[in-house]
Amino acid sequence: MSDHPRHILIVDDTPDNLRLLSKTLSEQGYEVQCAINGKLALMAVNHKTPDLILLDIKMPEMDGYEVCEKLKSKPETAEIPVIFLSALDDVLDKVKAFKIGGIDYITKPFQVEEVFARIENQLTIRRLQKELHNKNLKLQKLNQELQRSNQELEEFTYVVSHDLQQPLQTITGFAELLLALKSEINLEQEADEYVTPILDQGIRMQELIKDLLEYSRAGTKKRNFEATDCQEILRKSLAHLHGAIQDSRAMITSETLPTVMADRIQIGQLFQNLIGNGIKYQRSNVEPKIVIAVEEKPQEWLFKVEDNGIGIKPENFERVFQVFQRLHTNQEYPGTGVGLAICKKIIDRHQGKIWIESQWGIGTTFYFTIPKLNEGNYDNS
Ligand code: ADP
Repeated sequence: MSDHPRHILIVDDTPDNLRLLSKTLSEQGYEVQCAINGKLALMAVNHKTPDLILLDIKMPEMDGYEVCEKLKSKPETAEIPVIFLSALDDVLDKVKAFKIGGIDYITKPFQVEEVFARIENQLTIRRLQKELHNKNLKLQKLNQELQRSNQELEEFTYVVSHDLQQPLQTITGFAELLLALKSEINLEQEADEYVTPILDQGIRMQELIKDLLEYSRAGTKKRNFEATDCQEILRKSLAHLHGAIQDSRAMITSETLPTVMADRIQIGQLFQNLIGNGIKYQRSNVEPKIVIAVEEKPQEWLFKVEDNGIGIKPENFERVFQVFQRLHTNQEYPGTGVGLAICKKIIDRHQGKIWIESQWGIGTTFYFTIPKLNEGNYDNS
């Protein structure tokens, strides 16, 4: 139904009635379609859904009640308002008419003003119902977003209160020790022992906070989806990773990548994190090989980033996407455990999916999808 519903289907087996009503309504600017019996009416409705139906009750073969029942039994046509038409000398079963879903009735011969008034009434009700329905959908969507951001806030609070405590405890512990032992220690000789952990943990905390803020920003920034050439984005990401690629002698190959509707900065971040990890989590003495591939599906693009690194065990497939969840110490492989959480958030914002397939000791493939949102279908709000 359009915003200004004007399309009316008249169903009547008397050609004179059809002609008269059709002419009068057309003159008033309605778009009118006629059907001479119930069967043709149902076919017409299936072809193009009218905004309202004027339905004669007394018709041979299939009467108006039956046509109405058939319309109401199918979800696609159940919502079309039906006004019954009945001749003055017909026995109109009003109760039945309303019971099977009719919303009003008009008795012939018509009084033109009355017909207009009844039609307009019903079309206005329909429009308001539709508006209400759309507003409800919007509210539901907002509510879902609110729940999600609440959950994120809880997660964020948990992470801040737990994971940032640890370096802070080291810092305060050593500082207290330093104070307590100040008269006994020779700072010139023992500074390293007491001050280095304070400095190290302070730097670690700075890194954690920086990445945590980046994670938090990844979800709150204003949506800015535009045609994004992934080939170009990949090229830039590889340029950013140039140092790591050279040091590790990584070999990176890619299929030609498509242009997708996306936030280009975030897609760059995504490639950089996944390829960066593929290089970082390499097996010792095995040069990293990373293959980027893409597959076109009817509704989405399916991307793959495959490496030949240390692999991830299946029990950790979900865990690694959570903030600060790492499978290694900072000494084994440096990092904060935020990269994949950011990737997950970016993909969530693009309404795609991200997942892992991996063989321990052989390599890992990250899969992610980007829906093919067409221009009219996405909302930058
Ligand atoms: P970080 O690399 O800073 O630890 P990530 O969120 O990027 O943070 O990754 C989380 C964990 O997932 C890593 O600590 C690592 O254990 C594991 N991981 C991520 N990518 C790979 C990969 N390509 N191969 C093996 N393990 C990986």
